[in-house]
Amino acid sequence: MRDPRYDILFEPVRIGPLTTRNRFWQVPHCSGMGYRYPNAEAYMRGIKAEGGWGVISTQEAEIHPSSEHSPANEGRFWDAADKPAMQLVTEKIHEHGSLAAIQLVHSVLHTTNRFSRMVPLAPSHVIADVGDPVQARGMDKSDIRELRRWYRDAAIRSKEAGFDIVYVYAGHDMSILQHFLSRRHNHRTDEYGGSFENRLRLFREVIEDTRDAIGDRCALAVRLAVDELLGPAGITSEAEGRDIITALADVPDVWDVNLSGWPNDSQTSRFSEEGFQEKYTAFVKSVTTKPVVGVGRYTSPDSMVRVIRKGILDLIGAARPSIADPFLPKKIEEGRIDDIRECIGCNICTSGDNTCVPMRCTQNPTVGEEWRRGWHPERIAPVEAPESALIVGGGPAGLEAARALASRGVEVTLAEAGQEWGGRVSLEARLPGLAAWGRVRDWRLGQLKTMTNAQMYLQSPLTADDVLAYGIPHVAVATGAKWRNDGVGRTHNHPLEFLSAGQVLTPDDIMAQGVAILMGEGPVVVFDDDWFYMGSVMAEVAAKSGREVIFVTPEAQVAPFSQHTLEQGRIQKRLLDLNVRIVTAQALAGRDATGLELACVYTDRVSRIECGSLITVTSRLPTDALWLELTQREAEWADAGIRSVTRIGDCFAPGIIAAANYSGHVYAREFGEVLNPGLAPFRREDVVPVLS
Ligand code: ADP
Ligand code: SF4
Repeated sequence: MRDPRYDILFEPVRIGPLTTRNRFWQVPHCSGMGYRYPNAEAYMRGIKAEGGWGVISTQEAEIHPSSEHSPANEGRFWDAADKPAMQLVTEKIHEHGSLAAIQLVHSVLHTTNRFSRMVPLAPSHVIADVGDPVQARGMDKSDIRELRRWYRDAAIRSKEAGFDIVYVYAGHDMSILQHFLSRRHNHRTDEYGGSFENRLRLFREVIEDTRDAIGDRCALAVRLAVDELLGPAGITSEAEGRDIITALADVPDVWDVNLSGWPNDSQTSRFSEEGFQEKYTAFVKSVTTKPVVGVGRYTSPDSMVRVIRKGILDLIGAARPSIADPFLPKKIEEGRIDDIRECIGCNICTSGDNTCVPMRCTQNPTVGEEWRRGWHPERIAPVEAPESALIVGGGPAGLEAARALASRGVEVTLAEAGQEWGGRVSLEARLPGLAAWGRVRDWRLGQLKTMTNAQMYLQSPLTADDVLAYGIPHVAVATGAKWRNDGVGRTHNHPLEFLSAGQVLTPDDIMAQGVAILMGEGPVVVFDDDWFYMGSVMAEVAAKSGREVIFVTPEAQVAPFSQHTLEQGRIQKRLLDLNVRIVTAQALAGRDATGLELACVYTDRVSRIECGSLITVTSRLPTDALWLELTQREAEWADAGIRSVTRIGDCFAPGIIAAANYSGHVYAREFGEVLNPGLAPFRREDVVPVLS
């Protein structure tokens, strides 16, 4: 049962007219589901309520079509037509005894209204920050009156839909209320601009209007970004962040405080530690008597207890830890600390919202699948009359397949060629900043070690003869993938023969042998055509070894996909801080003993750079020799007692760790099932056309 040290986490907290059942608060977070996938959204939130989160919030919910995020799938509560979807969310949350919170938002200059085509509104005439050629219109007094009405009406609708807590939100540089507060965005000269009191006016009014609208049944939460990490140019926790909280100290029923913008609030583990927001938010409790919620990627119950005992927070806010493990509170409550699936801080989840699809998670393969596939993060149906399985390869795909299959009652044998478990995860976790990624391996190993039906063997490189000799009926080949060293990737479609004029290394070489294998006198050149994290990490490794480094990419910036994981700015800054020379929009054109020829991707104009050693980060090829041989020898399967051989993870298709983990999970879920190949493997939330 529960360790008494953690009792404090299960104390109820009074929030205005309501009481939470514990101190676990799932703060608003986007999901990529929202109004477009309302069943997915509601079931995902409901699972978290089942997992013990005392308060479950929606993502930001648009209050009016003059502020809509299409094609992103945010929450939407424009009018009564959205009420059934919102009601489903509150029902699913209430089914398990949690409180439902909604974060209402009007985003003004952070939207361009691609769908509604309405002109965005802002405190002053400014260009929208989204990149579209759209300007937001400075609001006049009647616009302000209308805006207040929209907020009030949305609060009434929220109450009617069953929400218990209504948020007034000024955060992430995404809310009109924050923009009115901000000297950067608010250039007005009337009573809503200029002085601090004037810039605070609209925020204060909307808070009061919301209070009137929700009456005494619901609680009022205010979410404020207390620091924008912009120094004096922005809101800071020493100056106006503190002033705002002081001015409104006991007006809300609860404060939810964090950093702005989103890349500062949701920093990855590559760039920040658990609890990284404390130094900015710790002051809040000293200026209010109301409870305070805050985040910091807390996954450790000891850290949670520390922040409460030290008077930093009253409620443990969590977005990502609740995605990676929706049952985190329940596991602490039941004394199952080792079962907690800790968030690794990789932000693959944010990439879902940023690419307008339901989020995925590196640690939790079931997220986004709660409704459409009926997957539960903690329960998986036993296989009827299970036949045993052999998994070859102990990376994320093999470990997850083995874990989930063993949970279904299958006798599993897991064989790994190397001396340690984890495959690529173990290798990548040794790279700078990526240590937390080892949790993908650790959680699965921890679970497998408690299972008597999983036999695990290290130092066991299996051949096709071995597999046939074992005669285990079902074989999953999870033997991974290797980085190519011939330049083939997005830009170069055929092997580049000229690369062999000097040393060519790949991330696999660096991860296996370290920087000691870097040869040559001249600079280390990293050619990145992968566009995610690995190229920048290779540059970081080489630069930290003292070598001069040139980062070459056909793209316009370093690691463009990492915009979706909110890291691009920090990644580029890190390379610049390490004096890495960044060369953009260049492909490889030739090589000799001392240098590389580059070709501009727009003009083909050729230039030359010095190069001692070259690390290419382009694409990968499956390590599928075992699978190929087994399929070539299919005629021998029946005699050997083998009924299926399946490739999973990177051996099937090289991808990100989340994809390997998901692939292993799908294999286990579908084990023994007969699927109809003519049907999509999941339910869809189709829009039904209206027939005239
Ligand atoms: P994935 O991401 O798909 O899980 P990884 O590359 O992380 O792939 O892991 C693949 C693992 O498979 C590596 O740890 C590797 O040592 C192991 N492996 C490769 N070939 C064999 C083999 N023939 N027998 C056993 N293990 C193997
Ligand atoms: Fe955490 Fe990564 Fe999962 Fe997001 S995707 S919840 S950061 S493990």
